[in-house]
Amino acid sequence: MTDSSDFINACTHAIGEAYVITTDDDKAPYLTDQRQRFTGQAIAVVKPGNTAEVAAIVRLCNQFKVPLVPQGGNTGLVLGSVPDTKGNAIVLSLSRLNRIRAVDPVNHTITVEAGTILQHVQEAAEAASRLYPLSLAAEGSCTIGGNLATNAGGTGVLRYGNTRELCLGLEVVTAQGEIMEGLRGLRKDNTGYDLRDLFIGAEGTLGVITAAVMKIFPLPKSQLTALVALRTPDEALRLLTLAQGHCGAALTGFELMSDLCLQLVAKHMQHLTFPFSIHHAHYVLLELSDSESEAHASAMLEALLASALENDICQDAVLASSSSQSKTLWNWRESISSAQAKEGKNIKHDISLPISRIAEFITVTDALLQQHFPECRNVTFGHLGDGNLHYNVSPAIGYSIDLFLEQQSHINRVVHDSVHQFGGSISAEHGIGALKRDALLHYKSSVEISLMKTIKHALDPQNLMNPGKVL
Ligand code: FAD
Repeated sequence: MTDSSDFINACTHAIGEAYVITTDDDKAPYLTDQRQRFTGQAIAVVKPGNTAEVAAIVRLCNQFKVPLVPQGGNTGLVLGSVPDTKGNAIVLSLSRLNRIRAVDPVNHTITVEAGTILQHVQEAAEAASRLYPLSLAAEGSCTIGGNLATNAGGTGVLRYGNTRELCLGLEVVTAQGEIMEGLRGLRKDNTGYDLRDLFIGAEGTLGVITAAVMKIFPLPKSQLTALVALRTPDEALRLLTLAQGHCGAALTGFELMSDLCLQLVAKHMQHLTFPFSIHHAHYVLLELSDSESEAHASAMLEALLASALENDICQDAVLASSSSQSKTLWNWRESISSAQAKEGKNIKHDISLPISRIAEFITVTDALLQQHFPECRNVTFGHLGDGNLHYNVSPAIGYSIDLFLEQQSHINRVVHDSVHQFGGSISAEHGIGALKRDALLHYKSSVEISLMKTIKHALDPQNLMNPGKVL
């Protein structure tokens, strides 16, 4: 049994009283998840100011056998960044580790501490005329450490990859409180097991990420956005193949949205004007980033749309002719989640599939849901270019939300079984956390689960690092 007052005193001694928060009011913002679905308990919220202090706190956690939950911006969507209700853990907030340590425009790297807000990294890269391409709707509050721990995706994955692909090196405090110094900015390094990749996507269950070397890129000379109306997801796939053929690496965004998504945005975000004269069944928001010139980008986009019309793929299209029009088009895409939340509670599925099978998956799974749960409305959108769908489900208008949520586990099972049959993944972007742990155990093979448990036990034998998450 931990004597928590001895532990708190030791933490206070290590990093200063101001950074060990123990009062209920001050702890509260760190204990509830982003969507306000769950509130946990903690002995304290501890906020070290540098890597050595993180290591000191982790060593104290070892000594007193206190579990710890690393937390960045607390924007995660799977209950990974909040403690459980036992009340025996601490929240280890990385928010004070927020320095940009270096920008190297020749090596095309930026070295940042884990608690740095994503938007600040984008801004620091831009100040050096470079692009840090990770972009997601929570970028004003999520942190690089959280992005790495969840291997976040976002809208630029098609061209630049997930956070894992953007990372060249990590500094990590191990579960024993040692510091792994791996801040190497190397694009080639074949020196044994890839320890860096173990910590990426581990959701804080193997160690605490304290800093990282991330890739940056030349700023594009021009970015163009278009919204294309289509009849079916299959047409969207044909458009994707066409766009990849015409534009190659210049294609940086390819987002699918069903009409219901845009109807919800139009209903709940009334300041936005619907861009077409009539509604269509589906839409694709596509973005080109060109390294030559605006004229070159426009010519590429016009050729693509002409080819889409010729092939009877495109029903209508709107082109943004300024960056503010482009932002407005992206607003339609980025407002879908909030519009769906304003419509009421809903059930989310963050799934990925082989791109070639997405259209068939949507047809089959829509039909299955209608057959088993006719009171469902499918709100389907996502990063089609990455094979990632937000296959969300809302209740029919007027249907009892309580009755709807009672069916959540059945709805999840129908969707995830279908994902599994199509060779997909039940978590494309958001991770496993506490929310999808049972589903992970159900769908992942016993060999994979056993290897994951072996790694967890080897790196964190006392099970103090974010226990109850992932495994
Ligand atoms: P937190 O929520 O604080 O933590 C997330 C997990 O990482 C937890 O398990 C935590 O323990 C662990 N962790 C945090 N920091 C560290 C660290 N330094 N070391 C070890 N472990 C750590 N995700 C996408 O992939 N793509 C999207 O497009 C996307 N859009 C989003 C839009 C909105 C509006 C919101 C609210 C979320 C979205 N997300 C998206 C979810 C996404 O996971 C997070 O926004 C982000 O990557 C998490 O960063 P964070 O700093 O908030 O981490």
